[in-house]
Amino acid sequence: MIKNYNSVPTPCYVVDRDLIKSNLKVLDQVQKETDCKILLALKGFSMFSLFPQIGQVLAGITSSSLFEARLGYEEMGKEVHIYSPAYQEKEFDEIMTYCDHIVFNSFPQYQKFKDKIKNNSNKNIECGIRINPEYSEIKTAIYDPCYENSRLGVTLAQFKEDELEGIHGIHFHTMCEQNSDTLARTIEVVEEKFGKYFHQMKWINFGGGHHITRSDYELDTLINTIKHIKSKYNVQVYLEPGEAIALNTGFLVASVLDIITNNMNLAILDTSAACHMPDVIEMPYRPEIIGAKKPGEHQYTYRLGGMTCLAGDIIGDYSFEEPLKIGDKLIFCDMAHYTMVKNNMFNGVNLPSIAISDADGVQVIREFNFEDYRNRLS
Ligand SMILES: *Cc1c(COP(=O)(O)O)cnc(C)c1O
Repeated sequence: MIKNYNSVPTPCYVVDRDLIKSNLKVLDQVQKETDCKILLALKGFSMFSLFPQIGQVLAGITSSSLFEARLGYEEMGKEVHIYSPAYQEKEFDEIMTYCDHIVFNSFPQYQKFKDKIKNNSNKNIECGIRINPEYSEIKTAIYDPCYENSRLGVTLAQFKEDELEGIHGIHFHTMCEQNSDTLARTIEVVEEKFGKYFHQMKWINFGGGHHITRSDYELDTLINTIKHIKSKYNVQVYLEPGEAIALNTGFLVASVLDIITNNMNLAILDTSAACHMPDVIEMPYRPEIIGAKKPGEHQYTYRLGGMTCLAGDIIGDYSFEEPLKIGDKLIFCDMAHYTMVKNNMFNGVNLPSIAISDADGVQVIREFNFEDYRNRLS
């Protein structure tokens, strides 16, 4: 369902409300069938103009910082969870005003802040501890929280069962873009190592990385795994995906600024891998472009590059049925998650505008300018 995006000023992210709605429908089915709670991880997708729509279905948000917590609290106003590898003393009081669930990365961190939480008269905050089950199936080291000597979560060897007083939940996050068979194998290890502590918990948080809204995702295995943990230990189960909420819901529309040749055809776009799709370089991965194929499959192949002066600001090689012309629009797919939240203004390159499309058409809701650039510097 690609609408006519030719009218938007480029570069521009366009996120489609109906596509978000179809993802939410799948997530809602999981919630209804298992009575679990699903949170939006703002780290992956923080487009707050859609929070009212998302909040109609999901239980709330999870955050990784004070700012994300505040954004979720102010713009969605449902449950606000937080996990950070370490909290700063100077931010903690404010964090407690927004968050109802605080997950700690270590027992020393929990000890440091537990009295503050107990003594806060504002609200009842539930604490959790993140564990590292030392099992993951992620192949890319920078996305693997269980690589050797990882700082993320408490291993069984470091687990302090005599310091669990006041801890309501256990949290693990060991997956990335994975299917439910990975979850099932992970849960086996988690249960074997930490299951004996589950009985005294109120909730278990399965983290993110569940690619629930992908077309080949096996919902039954997820549903059975949640039901198994819920009934065996009498706990609530939380999932906190980011990507699954926004998967395949957004596009980045860009224009061709110039076409040059250096042993092959090169096109320079008004977008940038380094600034506007950093995971293309970091992950790395190759985004799909509507109407384009792999190099050589269509007659005209181009290397698409960004408008920064970083030599490696390359999106990739693509082939097209017709030669590209200056001014042509290219529509990159699946650009809603881990783009806007990771953007930067390297080279002083402006950020893409942000638009929402729905049955009424496409509406640009945010444009950026020099002030946005200048305000981050001094
Ligand atoms: C990144 C992250 C998430 C969200 O992961 P997705 O891959 O976007 O689903 C959830 N929880 C924690 C702790 C994370 O670090």
